[in-house]
Amino acid sequence: MHATYRTRWLYNGLNRGDVLRSPRAANLVSQMRTRDWSNPGFTLIEIMIVVAIIGLILAIAIPNFNRYRLYAQQQLCIENLSQIDNAKQQWALEKGMKDGDVPTETDLSGANGWLKAWPTCPAGGIYSINAIGAVPTCTVANHTY
Ligand SMILES: [Zn+2]
Repeated sequence: MHATYRTRWLYNGLNRGDVLRSPRAANLVSQMRTRDWSNPGFTLIEIMIVVAIIGLILAIAIPNFNRYRLYAQQQLCIENLSQIDNAKQQWALEKGMKDGDVPTETDLSGANGWLKAWPTCPAGGIYSINAIGAVPTCTVANHTY
């Protein structure tokens, strides 16, 4: 590849340097826009390209951050519902309750309860304890235990 390239120049009776030294090439080189190293800093085009790339990266990342936050809230809420359900089961066992009996928040939490503090949904949902035999629920969509 390289050899044929060089050979073509030789067939034309020219060396590559001859072309660059020709008056036409010198004229083209003088018209090329080159960086002025006496003036440090970035041109407007360079800054615009960098800003555009940063904007593109953020446009990709921000929806993902939002999705991860919602997923974390959902997982924490499901864990809360699981703890409420466990407290319900222990309440029913110790108090001799059966399916259909509904404990209150004070039955399950506080000094004599099985939950030290009543859990709250990180997304602001409201918990329904529900009866023994049914799972507790949250009002936020997809927060299902
Ligand atoms: Zn929730």
